[in-house]
Amino acid sequence: RVRRRRKWRKMLKVLEELEESCATPVGRLKQVVDAMAVEMHAGLASEGGSKLKMLLTYVDKLPNGSEKGTYYALDLGGTNFRVLRVHLGGQRSAILGQDIERQPIPQHLMTSTSKDLFDFIASSLKDFIEKEGNFSEQPSPGRRELGFTFSFPVKQSSVSSGILMKWTKGFAIEDTIGRDVSECLQLAMSRKGLDVRVAALINDTVGTLALGHYNDEDTVAAVIIGTGTNACYLERADAIIKCQGLLTTSGGMVVNMEWGNFWSSHLPRTSYDIALDVASPNPNDQGFEKMISGMYLGDIVRRVLLRMSEEESDDFGPSSSKLAIPFILRTPLMAAMHEDDSLDLSEVAKILGEVLELPDVPVKVRKLVVKVCDVITRRAARLAAAGIIGILKKIGRDGSGGIASGKFRSDRPTRMRRTVVAIEGGLYTSYTLFREYLDEAMMEILGEEVSSHVILRVMEDGSGTGAALVAAANSPSE
Ligand code: ADP
Repeated sequence: RVRRRRKWRKMLKVLEELEESCATPVGRLKQVVDAMAVEMHAGLASEGGSKLKMLLTYVDKLPNGSEKGTYYALDLGGTNFRVLRVHLGGQRSAILGQDIERQPIPQHLMTSTSKDLFDFIASSLKDFIEKEGNFSEQPSPGRRELGFTFSFPVKQSSVSSGILMKWTKGFAIEDTIGRDVSECLQLAMSRKGLDVRVAALINDTVGTLALGHYNDEDTVAAVIIGTGTNACYLERADAIIKCQGLLTTSGGMVVNMEWGNFWSSHLPRTSYDIALDVASPNPNDQGFEKMISGMYLGDIVRRVLLRMSEEESDDFGPSSSKLAIPFILRTPLMAAMHEDDSLDLSEVAKILGEVLELPDVPVKVRKLVVKVCDVITRRAARLAAAGIIGILKKIGRDGSGGIASGKFRSDRPTRMRRTVVAIEGGLYTSYTLFREYLDEAMMEILGEEVSSHVILRVMEDGSGTGAALVAAANSPSE
């Protein structure tokens, strides 16, 4: 019994140390806010000036509701691939209607040739165009216009063209790297006899921002927190120092931050984060993403539980469990344990038993497991909130006065402008506690008055719909 009690205390100690090293008091979050704003500056000042790439998108005209007509979009960004048709009525009307078709990308195409992949995409589009949708297309002269959401790192050369820098997310097609992906698509469409023009090439966050802005012109930034995480925002063209003389008609441009790669010494990092990073295929890369996004949260929790099981193998063993298998605990399962509100935590027991092969874990240990999920998710959500406010700070929308208030800052309270951030991704939309922690941290950092002017607005399917909207805003008839 004495031995057991000692083991239990050791397990508690693992939790206590975890809580300590994951702590995110508001003071620390504000340091992260500042670091984000500083890194944004650095990334805009020079190429390679920061871990934040701050990529130019050449999107200087966000849709505002005046767009009219029928537009197409392709959305390629992960395992699924979507084709969309969007009908716009103009005059600030809501989107009149849209047809969407999803399909998985056949596994073998992810590692085949550029031609095979783009031919597949073009023929899916052809089938889609030929099928009647729910909304019949207005017969219109000229070619069709299409927006292409391509969520891989691209160096843009215009709003509708850009070169693939590298593949991620399981894709590996050597001969696409260094090529203009728009042109690849354009050629494949010609081969299929399709008269469609790629009017916009964007990544998913830009799509989310475009849909946000279409619905509400106070939208200034977009954040995605799903399997991975990224953000973009509307910057003044003259603040993009690395691109001198950049002229845009609107005076602004959307910047794709690639914020998953953000890093700061103020981020509360644990030994579990370090071990996860070392074991990953991209060590030292995507540091912020590895603390925040759905791809990783479950695995951080698994690593803590593994550590606990090494202290207490009687109640939390046997060593034959599957706890040692990387990524076996997916984030949605972790969330299900976290959100188990049954008295005896039966959902926790079920997942521990079925997924990790840890049978008969006593209730007090189940409570510990829930606590671990809570610590990791709370940290992630609060850091994401700090990141968002870092963006607002950079553009003077965090209520701190910033550039907008001018020299009368101290004697004149500035009126905070209504500010909307479009947000998308499974963590925010499907994980209630994550969302609550994020919202709460926004309030804590900004204070009640300022945060009442900052609205996080969920954009369903923004990445695809947004591409059609950017195409519309950049098509000749506009
Ligand atoms: P993606 O980022 O893959 O394009 P989503 O934005 O829908 O797609 O995000 C999916 C990710 O969100 C999943 O990988 C998962 O990690 C996370 N997720 C989805 N549902 C939940 C949930 N209920 N609880 C926690 N995480 C979830």
